[in-house]
Parts: sequence; C-alpha cells; structure tokens
Amino acid sequence: QTFEDCALGDIIQDNIALSRYLKPTPVQKYAIPIVLNHRDLMACAQTGSGKTAAFLVPILNQVYEMGPIDLPAQTRSYGQRKKQYPMALVLAPTRELASQIHDEARKFSYRSRVRPCVVYGGADIGAQIRDLERGCHLLVATPGRLVDMIERGKIGLDNCKFLVLDEADRMLDMGFEPQIRRIVEKDTMPASGERQTLMFSATFPKEIQVLARDFLDNYIFLAV
Ligand code: AMP
Repeated sequence: QTFEDCALGDIIQDNIALSRYLKPTPVQKYAIPIVLNHRDLMACAQTGSGKTAAFLVPILNQVYEMGPIDLPAQTRSYGQRKKQYPMALVLAPTRELASQIHDEARKFSYRSRVRPCVVYGGADIGAQIRDLERGCHLLVATPGRLVDMIERGKIGLDNCKFLVLDEADRMLDMGFEPQIRRIVEKDTMPASGERQTLMFSATFPKEIQVLARDFLDNYIFLAV
C-alpha cells in the first residue's frame, strides 16, 4: 500500500512526497482511512511508529477540503486579529513533543494556506502570542500553556472541529487531567458529536479508558 491509495488531495500528496515518506507505516495505513471517514479513534501506538503523520495527514486534508481559508490579512486591525479560533487542536505532554508535531505540521501544510502554531510552557509567552496573531488554523499545545492562552483571550475553541490527545498516558502521568478536562469540557469546544476526536496512547490503562469514554464518540479502537 502507498500514500497514493489513500483518498488524499494533491497538496498533501505533494507534501508527503517532499517529506520522503514513501510507504505508510502500519499506524498510518490503518488510521488515515478511519480519520478520513470522520470516525473517532483510540489508537495504541508507540513513539517512532509514525503516529504524528497518522493524525496530521488526514486532519490537514480535511482542513484543506473545507475550502479557502481566510488568513488574517496584514492590513487588518489588531483588534480583529487578537483572538484566534483554530480549526484543529493537538494536545501534547511536553515542549519537545509539541515542537516535533509542529515541525511535521509545517511540512504537511507547505504551500497550503493552512498555518500551524505551537504554544508550550517555559518559553516567552509574548513571542507565542505574536505568532498566534499572524493566524492559527491548527494549534499544537501543552495543556497548561493553552489554558493560559484561553484565559488571556488569545485562543477560542468554538471552531475547533478536530481534537487530538497525543501521548494521553504521559499527559495523565504528568498531572494534566484537570487542564485537559477544562479545555475539552468547559471552554466552548464543540461537543463530542460535533467534532472529531482522536486519542493516541502507548498504554491503555483504566484512566485512559475513562478519558476515551468521556471524550470520544462511538470510537474505533486500533492497536499496532
Ligand atoms: P513519530 O512516531 O510520529 O514520532 O515518527 C517517527 C519518525 O518516523 C519521524 O522522524 C517521522 O518523520 C518518521 N516517519 C513517519 N512516517 C514515516 C513514513 N511513512 N516513512 C518514513 N518516515 C516516516
């Protein structure tokens, strides 16, 4: 099986080829069609399995298909650009993982009008806010910093149609459950039936099963 067998648009096919990904890894082979079919997914996959592209490729493809994206023009006033409403949100446990996901999202959104951004703790928030204000369609974030951005009125999740929890078990181990629940349940994120939700985790203990039950809607379980 090749990436050409997947029902993906031209831009993303070109960007996959530019990334020199010749053949989908197992998690990509199974997850991409499931996500393109608008299903929620709980996937057990390790780092190194290619899980990042397994969620970014089908989500970015759907974002492109939503049509021309209205990037904030440089001429617009500060007031109108102040708050960003990303269409897709990826939550990750650490700054390192979040920046890796952002790097991969930039490769796959090359020559598209989709602009990915990343925010994480332990770095200058002012620089991250200025970057968000240039436009943000897909946001990669660590939970604590995202709560901060929401409280500062820089991010709204009303338009967020795609939600990914990457390395969900590590996020729980790091004590992020209250922030994750706040983001997903209380911050006007569309309800589970009105968004597509994907969870990736290396392990599938009780706590992850509970999170899957609470956040996913009629999901498919994939273990690779
Ligand atoms: P991940 O598990 O998403 O962290 O990916 C592990 C590494 O494999 C990253 O360096 C990716 O760039 C690379 N990778 C992911 N998918 C493919 C693929 N289909 N072909 C070649 N390399 C890949």
